[in-house]
Amino acid sequence: MTSSKSGTTPETPRASTASKAANRAAKAPKAPKAAKELKAAKVPKAESHLALVRRARRINRELAEVYPYAHPELDFRNPFELLVATVLSAQTTDLRVNQTTPALFAAYPTPEDMAAAVPEEMEELIRPTGFFRAKTKSLLGLSAALRDDFGGEVPGRLEDLVKLPGVGRKTANVVLGNAFGVPGITVDTHFGRLVRRWKWTDEEDPVKVEAVIAGIFPKSEWTMLSHRVIFHGRRICHSRKPACGACPIAPLCPSYGEGETDPEKAAKLLKYEMGGYPGQRLSPPADFPGKPAPALGAA
Ligand code: SF4
Repeated sequence: MTSSKSGTTPETPRASTASKAANRAAKAPKAPKAAKELKAAKVPKAESHLALVRRARRINRELAEVYPYAHPELDFRNPFELLVATVLSAQTTDLRVNQTTPALFAAYPTPEDMAAAVPEEMEELIRPTGFFRAKTKSLLGLSAALRDDFGGEVPGRLEDLVKLPGVGRKTANVVLGNAFGVPGITVDTHFGRLVRRWKWTDEEDPVKVEAVIAGIFPKSEWTMLSHRVIFHGRRICHSRKPACGACPIAPLCPSYGEGETDPEKAAKLLKYEMGGYPGQRLSPPADFPGKPAPALGAA
């Protein structure tokens, strides 16, 4: 269990690589060479499982080169904070959650404190994250369950986590992978979209996607793979207009051409480390590369 900010380092680069990573973080990635002549990678209709595994692992290795500093983008100091932040992150950005949680955790630092909160007061604190009434209900319910059923501690097992109100497999895997060091695959909207674009699977159901990916990668890769894929989805391979012409994965991607292929136009679509801020954390670990994101209301 990690209980300090620096305790999140499994997802951050080692100090010796931090300056290299910071340099990469400060600028957008180079578009692949001869991007204009690129074609979508051909995937045979009857691709064998072995060929799929090799192709998928190659993409993962490329992503590791592009995002050596991939990490969870929610600020947290202990499993309880990560659990709460992940519940709050539904339908909003991690940055907005990070701007909201300092006041929330100052008011309710433990599950016991949160379970005893006055709902209207909590609603006001988390209002900026949207759906604040439903989220308040979830947080009150899960805090009470932690207090009553788990001695005020966040359990470190998937089967216990998913029993908590408002906690599904995605949230449980985020908490397991990043607060407990238990490998977990986080199938959020970015992850599902990208693995389908790469033809790793055509499943839509997140639970089925998780099972397929678990059969392709060793457990030791699950957490970091999730971060890398989500980083790529947020920065380059966007939902509506993927920046194919500026994508380092393009030579390996069967969906190259689904988005903008002109390198100059594609470069304008990048959200890669926008403004020089590598990620969305306000209180990153000590060896985090580059500057943290701006606080709420800051330019
Ligand atoms: S941006 Fe384009 S080329 Fe890159 S992974 Fe997404 S669909 Fe493939």
